[in-house]
Parts: sequence; C-alpha cells; structure tokens
Amino acid sequence: MARITGPVCRLCRRDGLKLFLKGTRCDTPKCAIERRDTAPGMHQYRRGKQTDYGLHLREKQKVKHYYGVLERQFRGYFSRATRTKGNTGSALMSLLERRLDNIVHRLGFGSSRAQARQLVSHGHITVNGQHVNVPSYIVRAGDVIRVKNRTKSLQMVQANLSEHRRTVPDFLTMIEGGIPEGRVVRMPEADDISIPVQVQLIIELCSQ
Ligand code: SF4
Repeated sequence: MARITGPVCRLCRRDGLKLFLKGTRCDTPKCAIERRDTAPGMHQYRRGKQTDYGLHLREKQKVKHYYGVLERQFRGYFSRATRTKGNTGSALMSLLERRLDNIVHRLGFGSSRAQARQLVSHGHITVNGQHVNVPSYIVRAGDVIRVKNRTKSLQMVQANLSEHRRTVPDFLTMIEGGIPEGRVVRMPEADDISIPVQVQLIIELCSQ
C-alpha cells in the first residue's frame, strides 16, 4: 500500500500545526515548526490570501498527513462514512482513528504513526491472537492488540514504552502483564480525536 514518503516536517509547516510525524524529535527543540513556523518553500512570504477552497483543502490535507493516508484511501474512508448511519464527519474520524497503525501508536507501542505502521507491516502485532500485518485494518470494540511474543518485537516495543510514556485515550486500555497488550474498550468518539480539525469543511469539500 502506498504511503507518504519524503520530508515530513514540511507537511507540519505547510499545515501550520504539529502533526507529530517524527516520534521523539517532535517533543524536542529540534522540531522544525518550533524553529521556523512558516510554510516551506522560497516564496512563503509572498503567498496571497487563502481562498475558500484552500481553507477546505488544508483541513483535508491535515487529516491525511496526520493519519498517513493518501487521497484514494481517504476517499474510500469518506465513501464508507457516508454509508454509515449518523454524522458523516464523526464516522470518518472514527474510521481513521480505528486504523490498526493509529491504535498501535496511541497505545505507545510505536513512537510515531510511521513506526507503528512498520511494526504492523513487519508482523510484530497480533489482533485477538491472529497475525495481522495490514496497517489499515479497522479495529472493533473488544479487540485485543498484542505484541508478538518474540524477543525482537518485545525489545522494540518495550523501548518505546519506557522512552515515551504517553497517555492512552479513554477508548483504549492497557492490559497489565508481561507482554504489552491493549484493548479497544469502545468506538472512538469526537472527544477522542487527537487532531484539531474542522471536519465539517472536509465533508463539504468531499461532497462536491
Ligand atoms: Fe512536525 Fe515532528 Fe517535524 Fe515537529 S519534528 S515539524 S512535529 S514532524
């Protein structure tokens, strides 16, 4: 599956907020957006007023960059969200939040979403005891996400857990024990979404 490659700090500077794409570096003074809070490129100061379309597009790009998905996959999530009962915006964000790579990151097993994605695709993670190596796998309430009982897998995850202890969101819970594992307690809701974004603008853009 295609993924975002290339210099990711530029994405934060373009979107104008910290997207936490580089793991530990994001919490240090080396963070690019803290040093230079301007859009990337030579002519950032010459850019004119943002258009209405630009505003809508920026919100969509923020979400895509944050969750590491490309346009085609994002359209797939949007289409699935429109077929869900209830609020389309909430359904869209819930789907993105339930991606396995995001869950692995939010449990603290991976220092960034990119690393969490690699943990999943390299086979270090199981869901309900089954081997799952698809980062876009959508978890459900009650699913148990566990690190494989292999020295290499455990070493990597335990190093991440001890280096950057992060607060686990309310819809997830860590299960205490030897092998790191967590459970999805319930579906994520609007309050559980960790990126400040105006979802309504994304829905308006994608509905055109
Ligand atoms: Fe974004 Fe992290 Fe780079 Fe800072 S260090 S600009 S938060 S990716």
